[in-house]
Amino acid sequence: MKREYVDSYQHKGLRKQLVDLLRSKGITDNHVLDAINAIPRHFFLDSAFDKIAYENRAFDIGADQTISHPYTVAYQSQLLQIKKMEKVLEIGTGSMYQSAVLAEMGARVFSIERQKQLFDEKSKFYVRAKYFSAKFFYGDGFEGLPTYAPFDKILITAAAPFIPPKLLAQLKTGGSMVIPLDEGTEQRMLRLTKMADGSIQEESFEAFSFVPMLTGKNS
Ligand code: SAH
Repeated sequence: MKREYVDSYQHKGLRKQLVDLLRSKGITDNHVLDAINAIPRHFFLDSAFDKIAYENRAFDIGADQTISHPYTVAYQSQLLQIKKMEKVLEIGTGSMYQSAVLAEMGARVFSIERQKQLFDEKSKFYVRAKYFSAKFFYGDGFEGLPTYAPFDKILITAAAPFIPPKLLAQLKTGGSMVIPLDEGTEQRMLRLTKMADGSIQEESFEAFSFVPMLTGKNS
């Protein structure tokens, strides 16, 4: 069935309320808030969720995966401190919503997804048409993208069991990686910055709950 994509005044109003909620929860980066205000999140979800797409919650997107909470997307995007034209590697394309937020902020996005079903989703036309410099890959995020490395920023959007060494190697000096690192029942959000002497500076933030980062590809 053909689906119509309409961004109505009602959607825009709900989006504004979501931005206000994120601000009240401590998101201060206006570049992040402007991007969330600009992107029709309901385009990234099943049409059944049309009216509730702007609630601060996760939704099923198929293949046992979820689109992250808007707060989580905003939180990770804020920690990344994106500047225009930076090369950003995202692990876990999922619904492509986070990729759109980064692209809207002016990043050059490279995103990897291991689930073929999600990688193939046709509804992603919106992102592909609007942010044509964003590149999407079907593969295992633990490997990164050596051909396109190094990256200014790396974002992992699934629960990482450990810090993937190949991703650290693909980070520029002065660049940083935002990673939810597994601590058993939840994940600690870390920002790792590669210093000039090659050492890694680690900052620790709030705890979150993500779907697991899994090895290999799933056809
Ligand atoms: N950024 C996504 C969040 C999706 S949830 C969004 O905005 O919707 C996490 C995603 O990470 C899932 O789609 C899952 O399939 C994917 N994933 C898990 N392990 C991965 C890996 N090793 N490489 C690439 N993607 C992975």
